[in-house]
Amino acid sequence: MVPGIYIHIPFCLSKCGYCDFYSVTSTEKIPRYIDALLKEMKMYRGRFESVDTLYLGGGTPSLLDSNQLADVVKNIHEHFTVSADAEITIEANPGDITREKAESFFEAGINRISIGIQSFDDSTLSFLGRRHSSTGAISAIDNVRKAGFDNIGLDLIYGVPGQNLESWLKTLHTALSFDPEHLSCYQLTIEPSTPLGAKYRAGEVETPDDNILCEFFMKTSLLLEESGYTHYEVSNFAKGPEYMSRHNRKYWDHTPYLGLGPAAHSFAGNRRWWNHRSVDRYIEEVDRRIPPIEKSELLTRTQLRLEALYLGLRTAAGIDLRNFAERHSLNLLEEKRDILAAMRDEGLITIDNTHIRPTRRGLAMADSMALI
Ligand code: SF4
Repeated sequence: MVPGIYIHIPFCLSKCGYCDFYSVTSTEKIPRYIDALLKEMKMYRGRFESVDTLYLGGGTPSLLDSNQLADVVKNIHEHFTVSADAEITIEANPGDITREKAESFFEAGINRISIGIQSFDDSTLSFLGRRHSSTGAISAIDNVRKAGFDNIGLDLIYGVPGQNLESWLKTLHTALSFDPEHLSCYQLTIEPSTPLGAKYRAGEVETPDDNILCEFFMKTSLLLEESGYTHYEVSNFAKGPEYMSRHNRKYWDHTPYLGLGPAAHSFAGNRRWWNHRSVDRYIEEVDRRIPPIEKSELLTRTQLRLEALYLGLRTAAGIDLRNFAERHSLNLLEEKRDILAAMRDEGLITIDNTHIRPTRRGLAMADSMALI
């Protein structure tokens, strides 16, 4: 259980109408934010000593210039022991990825890049309020490959109002033509606090119904598996085990992780804590040498078990029964016999002597399996 580090870069050039991740659109605070971030790293020296993943997410990490980025990665190496084969990922917006920028990622030691393509259809991109076009997305992929990246992930969104199955499959086929090592296919969630949420409440947008969304999911899973990808988590597909996101797996199996930056979440043992969702407050508290933590909570044994069940059933690897019994002091097959049998009879899970695993239909229904 080697921990990982997540860094939240809370800046975007514009806000996409569907997004409720924390970010601000004024980039002049980036230098002060970087200063604070380097100071926050120091606060955790000795507490998260060895790590084997670093994930720069956002917001838009690709807005950092090459010196800022190199500084962040260099300081992580100075304050923590980063394993030699660490997975170091950056999320990048296609609108930022020039050839020079992609080369600067590579030179900073980043070895995995997750590109927020979302769609290759310009009308879908415009509905989502993205600042790139399909042509821009294609040239970003080209620039990243030419810079030397051999571990590329493309992030896509389905279930967008106005998008039909045919246009989604076209986007998927275009994505496949670039032979990415990883694909994330997220179903659009309408978050109440976003402009899209307001339009939805006003009846200005219609979303596809659950049966159609299930069809999107099943067709996506089948097409990508036929194309050589493993569907290893509800929204994630990899060309082989070596391309499955090592960092994200830490979130799914309760491996400790440290989150740095505004709104970043951390987890260790049975404690979860998160930073203030405000760049100003974050900078202010770090400058006063106060950990910029907004809140922390201790999870009870029951909460940890429920999370482990919920998260485990979202992954193709499923739940390792022996491991679960050791970590959570619970014999699942005995304690949850009836509900598990009902789920198996409905074709949602398979059960053998060592594992409970979701079927493809089970992955499609993973959210409702939270009821277990
Ligand atoms: S989707 Fe990404 S680029 Fe758009 S506002 Fe959210 S974090 Fe920024």
